[in-house]
Amino acid sequence: MQQSDPLAPERTRTALSVDTKKTSHSSAARVIPIVQMSASEAEVARQMQICNACRYCEGFCAVFPAMTRRLEFGKADVNYLANLCHNCGACYHACQYAPPHEFGVNVPKAMAEVRLETYTEYAFPASFGALYKRNGLTLSVALAAGLALFLLLGTVLHGGLSSDVAPANFYAIFPHNLLAAMFGAVFLLAILALGLGVRRFWRDVSAGTASASAPAVAEAARNALTLKYLDGGHGDGCNEESDAFTLVRRRFHHLTFYGFMLCFAATAVATFYHYAFGLEAPYPFLSVPVLLGTAGGIGLIAGPAGLLWLNLKRVPERGDARQRPMDRGFIALLLLTSASGLALLGLRTTSAMPSLLAIHLGIVMALFATLPYGKFAHGIFRSAALLKSSIEKRQRNTLSLGSD
Ligand code: SF4
Ligand code: SF4
Repeated sequence: MQQSDPLAPERTRTALSVDTKKTSHSSAARVIPIVQMSASEAEVARQMQICNACRYCEGFCAVFPAMTRRLEFGKADVNYLANLCHNCGACYHACQYAPPHEFGVNVPKAMAEVRLETYTEYAFPASFGALYKRNGLTLSVALAAGLALFLLLGTVLHGGLSSDVAPANFYAIFPHNLLAAMFGAVFLLAILALGLGVRRFWRDVSAGTASASAPAVAEAARNALTLKYLDGGHGDGCNEESDAFTLVRRRFHHLTFYGFMLCFAATAVATFYHYAFGLEAPYPFLSVPVLLGTAGGIGLIAGPAGLLWLNLKRVPERGDARQRPMDRGFIALLLLTSASGLALLGLRTTSAMPSLLAIHLGIVMALFATLPYGKFAHGIFRSAALLKSSIEKRQRNTLSLGSD
C-alpha cells in the first residue's frame, strides 16, 4: 500500500490507480481512475488516515464504519464520505487531535468544505452552481423580489388588482393552466437538474458497489427520513455550541422536511381535485388541501426559523463559512414561502389577495428555480450516500480490520 504523510494537508494527492482487493460480488480487480484531488479533498483524505488509526468515533455515525473499509482515500471515497457526514459535530467535540493539536483534525469542517465542492462539481449546468454558492442569500432574495415584482406587474397590466375580483378567486388573477404550465416546467427542470447531478455523483462514487437490494434501499430510506445520524450515535443528539448533546437540530430538520412534504401534498391533492372532480380553488378552511397546506406552512415556519437560529449561533470553527450564504439563502426562501402562503390564506377574501398571490407565486417560483443550486441539494446527495452506505455494509469487508 502506498503510504502518505498524514501531517501534510497542503499536499495534493491522487487516487490509487488500481485496487487489487476483490469485492464480494466480483472477482475482478477494481480499477480506480487516477484523479487529481483538490486541497479540500486531500485534507479529508489526510484526516481520514488519522481517524482510521484512532477509530474513537466509530459509533457516532455512518462515516467512520465506511472509513474502516478503506486504507486509502481517493477522490470518489472522499466525496462519498463527505456527503455521508451530517455535520452533527460529535467527532469534533470528542476529538483529542482537534486544533490546537498539531494533527489539526476537524472532520466536520473538512467534510463541509468538500461537500460544497461536490455541489459545484455536480451541479447541472455547473456554472449555475458556482454562481449560487457565491451569492446565496443575495441571489435568493433578489430572485424572489424580481419574480414577485414581475408577477405583480403582470397582474397590474391585466387589471388583476382591481377591487372587483371575486374573493379568494385566484384563477381570476392567474388562470389555472398558466400556473400549471409555469410551475410544472420550472419544477420539472429543477428535478431534471438534480437528477442529472446526482446520477453523475452516483456513477463516480459507486464503483465497486453491488446493486441495491430491497433491504438496503429500505434501510437507506429509513435513515434518511428519520435523520438517524443526527442522533450522535447514542440517541442524545448533536453538539451545537458546547459539549452538551441536543436533538434540536434533528427536530428543526424534521419540521422543515415534513412541512415541505405537507405543502407538496396539499398541492398534489388540490391538483387531483381540480382534474379528477372539477373542484376548483378556493377550498374551504377545513378541506384536505387547506388543512395539509396550513400544517405544512406552520412546519415550514418553525423548522427554518429554528435552523436559522442554530446557523446564527453555530461554532464557526466547526463548519465552512463559505456555505453560510447558501444555507441562509435557502432558509430565507423557505421562510418567505411559508409566511407569504399563510398570509395569503388568512387574507384571501380581502382586497390584498391579488398582491399577496403575486408575491407568494414569485417566491415559490424562486424556490423551485434555485432548488438544484443550493442547500436543497444536500438532501439528495446525502440520500445517495446513505444508499451506498447501506449497500456497502452488506458486502463483505475484505479488510477485516474494523468492527463494521
Ligand atoms: S475525529 Fe478525532 S477522536 Fe474521532 S476518530 Fe478521528 S482522530 Fe479519533
Ligand atoms: S460531524 Fe457527525 S456525522 Fe460528520 S463525521 Fe463527525 S460524527 Fe459523523
